[in-house]
Amino acid sequence: MHGSDSRVEDAFSAYLARVRAFSRDVLRPAEERVEAEDAIPEEIVAAMRELGLFGISLPPQFGGLGWNMEQQVLLTMEFTQASAVYRSRFSTTIGLTSQVILDYGTPAQQQLYLPAMAAGRVTGAFCLTEEAAGSDAGAVATRAVRDGADYVISGVKRYITNAPDADLFLVVARTGAPDSGGEGLSCFLVERGTPGLTTPPHSRMMGQRGSHVGEVHLDACRVPKGALLGSKEGNGLKLALRGINHARTHVAATCVGQALRLMDEALDYLTRRRQFGSLIGEFQALQVLLGESQSEISAARALVLECARQFDRGPIPHGEIACAKLFASEMVSRVADRVVQMLGGQGYLEERAVARLYRDVRLFRIFEGTSQIQQINIARRLLREAGQRAA
Ligand SMILES: Cc1cc2nc3c(=O)[nH]c(=O)nc-3n(C[C@H](O)[C@H](O)[C@H](O)COP(=O)(O)OP(=O)(O)OC[C@H]3O[C@@H](n4cnc5c(N)ncnc54)[C@H](O)[C@@H]3O)c2cc1C
Repeated sequence: MHGSDSRVEDAFSAYLARVRAFSRDVLRPAEERVEAEDAIPEEIVAAMRELGLFGISLPPQFGGLGWNMEQQVLLTMEFTQASAVYRSRFSTTIGLTSQVILDYGTPAQQQLYLPAMAAGRVTGAFCLTEEAAGSDAGAVATRAVRDGADYVISGVKRYITNAPDADLFLVVARTGAPDSGGEGLSCFLVERGTPGLTTPPHSRMMGQRGSHVGEVHLDACRVPKGALLGSKEGNGLKLALRGINHARTHVAATCVGQALRLMDEALDYLTRRRQFGSLIGEFQALQVLLGESQSEISAARALVLECARQFDRGPIPHGEIACAKLFASEMVSRVADRVVQMLGGQGYLEERAVARLYRDVRLFRIFEGTSQIQQINIARRLLREAGQRAA
């Protein structure tokens, strides 16, 4: 190993240890407050900024920490052993928006936004989904019409994470003809404060209270042509997918972190609760659930790490990412269900973290592409490759 490699490894190990301690000592103890207040306390967001969490995926030239994808998922598996709501606060900045600007933005766009994003001064929101464009992302109806040196954007985005808190909105809009499908989409960077852009109060959700998800209204919102991301029309879906694939990999890692947390809660209970004169952890029926869960967590962890290494080697492994997101999100739902069962009545009461975690993890099978969409993508890829081999 080269000297510089080992220095980087040491620096990463030290950072990982800081994040682990932050998650355990700061984030976990504040979970109930986040749930009760439906918001992350501002001092915790400030501490997240100070720790550099908003900049883990950006290179040092833009003020980030420059960790590669393997390191990012290792970090994610640590900080998501606390409530996933914390991760949600910076997820849209580190993945869905900044990575697209990093790979496709003009030098002016990169200089303008990336240092502020890395420092956590600018929160990004990724605005793709609409009423008629959910899984069918190519059906976006929001229009961006060229008018002199500007574009005028109109439409309504929904289910947008961090919409009420964001400063910068990456908006996918149609610049092509109404029937141009995915080919006719482009991405725009719209700043809060632009006349016509409003964010109504966030929606109430089944879980993840404290994460603010809501609509973004664009009512004849006028932006200069320099707001067109990458200054080229028509490649919006490709750009959006760059952010989505980063986010899907992180969601898969989040599922591993949340499953590890659930196991922690289960083990704590199984080694204290007694029935029929024994600790309930001594009952083989529950040991089966524990063994099954741990093996699935280990499998998901290995898959996510392998996927991250492929991501780092390039090109972006779309098929592997779909497998990791599908498997890990289904896995954590199964683990959460088993852990509720292992805790009996205590698993169903809001007094413990388990009921909240059970509700929180349900989301992972829905956003960043539902499980059905991942299955379809995986199957289509297999069939295409088989067709090519047969030809
Ligand atoms: C909390 C939360 C946060 C989100 N954050 C963001 C965000 O920040 N930015 C953003 O742009 N979006 C965001 N989303 C949107 C999310 O990505 C979509 O909800 C998701 O892609 C599914 O779209 P939909 O809800 O319209 O469901 P639909 O597409 O209507 O799907 C409904 C059901 O039909 C199934 N289905 C659809 N098409 C097919 C098919 N071809 N074959 C088989 N089954 C199919 C789906 O799997 C699902 O079971 C968020 C959603 C939630 C709930």
